[in-house]
Amino acid sequence: TVRQAGGGKIVSLSKATHKALNRKALIEKRLLQALDQKNLKVLYQPQIDVYSGKITAVEALVRWEDEVIGVVSPDELIPIAEETGLINNIGSFMLEKACEQALIWKKAGLDLKVSINSSVREFRDKNMAQSILEMLAKTGCPASLIQIEITEKFALEAEAATFITQQMHKLENEGISFVLDDFGTGYGSFRYMQILPIDTLKIDKAFTSALLKSEKTQKLINGMIQLGKSMELRVVAEGVETAEQADLLITYGCDVIQGYHISKPITSEEVEALLVK
Ligand code: C2E
Ligand code: MG
Ligand code: MG
Ligand code: MG
Repeated sequence: TVRQAGGGKIVSLSKATHKALNRKALIEKRLLQALDQKNLKVLYQPQIDVYSGKITAVEALVRWEDEVIGVVSPDELIPIAEETGLINNIGSFMLEKACEQALIWKKAGLDLKVSINSSVREFRDKNMAQSILEMLAKTGCPASLIQIEITEKFALEAEAATFITQQMHKLENEGISFVLDDFGTGYGSFRYMQILPIDTLKIDKAFTSALLKSEKTQKLINGMIQLGKSMELRVVAEGVETAEQADLLITYGCDVIQGYHISKPITSEEVEALLVK
């Protein structure tokens, strides 16, 4: 039971709620330590450009195996990190890794962009754009090698939207490009398309996995791709698991394919092995 502040009312929490709160608190505590010790890992998922048939970019995805809790999936980790503010720390960890890795590949003569994930919410931090530029300067990574995938599951008030758009423009001017991730599932996909300086749409994997199941979905996805094209955006499909899905998406005009059909997320060494093959 918990005594509510002020009211003095006794609220009884269910066992399940208690357990969830405990796990969240534990994750928060361990995550803070993991970030401190840079104990998170990064896997990279290749993306294939359909015109050249080559891997031209990889998406950096966070991986965390804690010695006490075990593996914590991004789907559990990211919402907790967003709630507690630790998402900014994950963001800068991932950015540093991405910059270092992109530079290593560039020096090795490999032409690979690295995409990192970021919540629109991270751009509410007034230092976001500046600290990204500082990281580029610190690592010596050219801005043109970094892409930022933006996700937002909530509506954004006008004031915050203006501020966020300004920060993104600042980065865009320096050569960073933006991808609208999970396109079609977010609260404000169409609004973001209008106000944010994005150059790529990424069709959510929920659409890809439904692609072959219904004609309606095929029409919808084809329409989404045409919409992207008409706005002169690049279109990426994620979650592509079969050749049939890839073929259909390419027929519709999709520019880039990502998914288990190409490769699951892999280590940087495995990416290099794929490229050399
Ligand atoms: P996302 O950015 O949309 O990433 C795609 C997710 O789909 C990844 O899951 C990836 O492993 C998975 N995936 C890739 N290909 C396939 C496929 O063919 N089939 C299926 N079923 N799944 C596929 P993951 O790594 O578990 O990440 C889940 C989400 O967590 C990401 O979705 C992203 O929103 C978030 N996330 C992951 N890493 C980070 C990060 O470093 N920072 C932030 N802010 N969010 C992250
Ligand atoms: Mg993504
Ligand atoms: Mg996505
Ligand atoms: Mg997603």
